[in-house]
Amino acid sequence: MDYQKTVLIVEDEKNIVDILRFNLQREGYQTCEAYDGTDGLEKARARRPDLILLDVMLPQMNGFDVCRALRQEGDNVPVIILTAREEETDKVLGLEIGADDYITKPFSMRELIARVGANIRRTAMAAPAASASDTAMPVAGDLSINTDSHQVFRGGKVIDLTQREYELLTFLASHPNKVFSRVDLMEQVWNYGYVGDDVRTVDVTVRRLREKIENDPATPLYILTRRGAGYYFAVP
Ligand code: CA
Repeated sequence: MDYQKTVLIVEDEKNIVDILRFNLQREGYQTCEAYDGTDGLEKARARRPDLILLDVMLPQMNGFDVCRALRQEGDNVPVIILTAREEETDKVLGLEIGADDYITKPFSMRELIARVGANIRRTAMAAPAASASDTAMPVAGDLSINTDSHQVFRGGKVIDLTQREYELLTFLASHPNKVFSRVDLMEQVWNYGYVGDDVRTVDVTVRRLREKIENDPATPLYILTRRGAGYYFAVP
């Protein structure tokens, strides 16, 4: 059965919430809302939404802290940060703390709906607790991926990845030694048909992924950079 996806809107400006709710519901999503950060975090825990639209400047607890708290609890729900500022630091900080994407206000509703669709998990929720020895396929070195449970293991230990990090890793690993430009990756992994300045998102996600899967992120063994061309998953 095709169940309705739920989007949690965490935003303190009521007129923005209203327009988001209207447009998301028209696209077939279920919505729930929170008007401050604390309530947003509680609703994220209680409602287990399929995606969170998260404003940065919120009463009680800001959006970055909400996202950070969720990630620390191991919640990998897709998060799109809504930032009012054009500031690069805001965007990068959002990605650094584990958000999947950001949209700068004022945003076009068409773009927002496209990004919600692209970020929502299309596959079934990850099954709990699969063991590395079960069905995980070795990828390279001590790295293995279980595509049934959406889990990645290093040396038999589960690595906690966001959905986007997981998708980037499995995409690159499924095309070993093939170099993809950042624009290629935006299209293939982020499902964006348009790119602009957002290729920076790819760099930040690669860096975060390296910090999680590489022994020494400064001299990576798995995800390598081909200068001026892009990234690739190296297999000897
Ligand atoms: Ca706000």
